[in-house]
Amino acid sequence: MQVHVALGSNLGDRESHLRRALGDIADLEGVSMLVCSSLYETAPMGPQDQPDYINAVCRFDYRGTARALMGRLQSIEREHGRLANGRRWGERPLDLDIILFGEQIIDEPDLSVPHPGLSERSFVLWPLAELDENLTVPGGRGQGKSVVQLQQQCPRLGIQRLPGGALSVE
Ligand code: ADP
Ligand code: MG
Repeated sequence: MQVHVALGSNLGDRESHLRRALGDIADLEGVSMLVCSSLYETAPMGPQDQPDYINAVCRFDYRGTARALMGRLQSIEREHGRLANGRRWGERPLDLDIILFGEQIIDEPDLSVPHPGLSERSFVLWPLAELDENLTVPGGRGQGKSVVQLQQQCPRLGIQRLPGGALSVE
């Protein structure tokens, strides 16, 4: 399955969290063909009394289920010191969200794919467009729209692409 995962960090050495997390994802069983967007520095969503984020989106082929992948990603978040009891949309050393899992639509209490925030989040849409701007979203609020179409409906507010190009897998 072709999968897109969003990475975010706003605590500690943010860029280093993202670089290490990308390597951690590459090392997961069942992951191949991993590529990543550039890094973006972005204003926080939700509580404003927290540092700016660094965000990126990666794409890879995954042999396994979406639920299995979520479990693996949550382990990586914990290894980066993420506490389970942080406030909603609060600060975190690492956030890993499944944005798309092929054409699958999953609507369960603890797992929604495509990610419900996709259409409103410039910090996901811009890095995603670097990888696959013509991809069509299979379900949820952005259903039937391409990434470019979603960008046209979403202000590019509060995001800045950092120099250095695509994040490479070490
Ligand atoms: P956010 O990423 O919106 O800030 P959190 O990372 O704090 O939210 O939320 C974590 C919870 O989100 C997890 O316990 C997980 O069950 C749930 N969740 C639902 N859909 C997804 C998804 N597509 N990817 C990752 N987590 C998801
Ligand atoms: Mg998350």
